[in-house]
Amino acid sequence: GYRSRAAYKLKQLHEETGIVQPGDTVVDLGAAPGGWLQVATELVGDSGSVLGVDLQRIDDIDGVETIRGDMTDEDTRAEVVERVGKADVVLSDMAPNMTGEYSVDHARSVYLARQAFETALEVLEGGGDLAVKVFEGPDTGRLRTDMEAEFEYVRAIHPEASRDSSSELFLVAKNHLTAPVRTGD
Ligand code: SAM
Repeated sequence: GYRSRAAYKLKQLHEETGIVQPGDTVVDLGAAPGGWLQVATELVGDSGSVLGVDLQRIDDIDGVETIRGDMTDEDTRAEVVERVGKADVVLSDMAPNMTGEYSVDHARSVYLARQAFETALEVLEGGGDLAVKVFEGPDTGRLRTDMEAEFEYVRAIHPEASRDSSSELFLVAKNHLTAPVRTGD
């Protein structure tokens, strides 16, 4: 079994988008307790590698490296870049502590998603992919637009496994562009 029900969300994202391929190097942000790490390490197989980061301690998983740290902290982001070098996939299931006040929770969620996006821009190879959780709200559109400038395309997916929290969606950005996007012709 998996450590978290969240594992089934990554499985569904993978079924719809093929986000994690055998041999990939994967960075998983907000990884505790480790359900996504378990799924990701199965998907990458022996030739791949997985690095998980969280504020919380993550119990050992065979073949998975972890960092305990805060992704809003520059030192943690630098450690991720240093440890992983280049990656094929960045995943983020990071979520803020909920206040129950929607605008605050939304804003904090978008802020965490942007940390994941920034990290992805630093570590992803050309052609790499990013999947990031965000609570829907007024700032989601601009995040998506900013992601669209850096990737071939972005899809918004509501996994069935997260039906209970209906405001949660995943932006899945495929094929990181290494050359600037040309606007117009
Ligand atoms: N994907 C995980 C799994 O499958 O087990 C579940 C992740 S849980 C929904 C969200 C996680 O984001 C929490 O463990 C929380 O500690 C982490 N998180 C929130 N803010 C963070 C931050 N600034 N830096 C690192 N992790 C953070």
